Amino acid sequence: MDQTLRPYADQTAPRYTSYPTAPHFTDQVDGETVQRWLGELPEDTDLALYLHVPFCRDICWYCGCHTVGTRKDAPVLEYAAMLLREIGIVAGATRARRVKAIHWGGGTPNILTPEAFEDLAAEIAARFDLSGLEEHAIELDPRTLTAAQIEAFARVGVTRASLGVQDLNPHVQESIGRIQPYEQVAEAVERLRVGGVQKINLDLMYGLPNQTLADAQRSAALAAGLHPDRLAAFGYAHVPWFKARQRLIAEPALPDAETRFDQAEAIRDTLAAHGYRAIGFDHFARADDPLAAAAEDGRLGRSFQGYEEARADALLGFGASAISTYPQGYAQNAPDLGGWSRAVAAGRLATVRGRSVTAEDRVRRDIIERLLCAFEADVRPDGGLAAFPGAADALAPLAADGLVAIDDDVVRVTQKGRPFARLVAQAFDAYRAGSTARHSVAV
Ligand code: SF4
Repeated sequence: MDQTLRPYADQTAPRYTSYPTAPHFTDQVDGETVQRWLGELPEDTDLALYLHVPFCRDICWYCGCHTVGTRKDAPVLEYAAMLLREIGIVAGATRARRVKAIHWGGGTPNILTPEAFEDLAAEIAARFDLSGLEEHAIELDPRTLTAAQIEAFARVGVTRASLGVQDLNPHVQESIGRIQPYEQVAEAVERLRVGGVQKINLDLMYGLPNQTLADAQRSAALAAGLHPDRLAAFGYAHVPWFKARQRLIAEPALPDAETRFDQAEAIRDTLAAHGYRAIGFDHFARADDPLAAAAEDGRLGRSFQGYEEARADALLGFGASAISTYPQGYAQNAPDLGGWSRAVAAGRLATVRGRSVTAEDRVRRDIIERLLCAFEADVRPDGGLAAFPGAADALAPLAADGLVAIDDDVVRVTQKGRPFARLVAQAFDAYRAGSTARHSVAV
């Protein structure tokens, strides 16, 4: 690691999947606000739908998601029945119908039985117009994937599956409470392709307990050898004060900041050697993947799933804890299953918090997105750096160390600075100074 980068490796920064970020959501946005926002959406709004399934068979120790463990099917089926109702409530509040993308996340969406999954998909198809659907994606746990589920995905028209891989070395898997041999992942990929789900994403992690540089490299090479369309490499965020399950992770076994950085670089180099293009700071795509084309012609965007082709005007989130993005702002459903299902059972929107987006927020959000997606933002049309108090001061040390170049109010993240793009983006975050939120380290 270049020693000028060392001081930055420990710094924390949000992932900026929204701006303002979720810690700045308040209860000023509630069901009534969202009822109005939905009502204001024009008929020709392009929608993306996100369905959250907050259940898993076993809980992995490193997990930072909103999810609970269950061995029984009953709670999952009850949840699916409530999701059906929520789809009706939301669809009934808006004239917007045109869906461009559907994403099932979790938790483990394939904890749903094939019947429950197909019922939900049928309800979406009945309530919305899917004739222009460009992508139908689902996150899957390869350990519990069944043949009947794959058949259901094919019938519904699922186009893309994301599989959580994390690391493919047995000793690392033991340290994170997720045993998932390489053969199991390879078999799941093969079965999905044969079954008709052609596009595959694999998610890797670095910074895991007992994970060495060689482990991260080996996992990346094995994953690339399965020829997924896309890969993502996320740094493990150790936030045990926020996610109690992470207390099971042996803290002394976590790699230090320098090793994390080197692991991220090693994964990047390994994937590049296998022909993958780096997209933003943590995604990779095959040259023939639409994400690579989107990155090249400036259509890359950020959503709660990370990098994506910008295609929707509004993202409607369904399920406990799901976050929606409207032109007017963000809205989050009740994170607890009880609160969410009580609202839905009463026929109400389950929003408990969110944030209206001001004109200034929009300008800053756009700059942050450009810095993270294109690594460059020309702030001259926005009044130059002087229009963003504190930004120039925040950028000065990054510029002195060669992470960012500022030329006539055009801010460019250098090649050296790309792993720290979130720190550069943070210079334009007006809420950061007063924030008490604790974020994960920037690499
Ligand atoms: S990592 Fe995935 S499978 Fe593991 S507990 Fe979290 S959501 Fe569930």
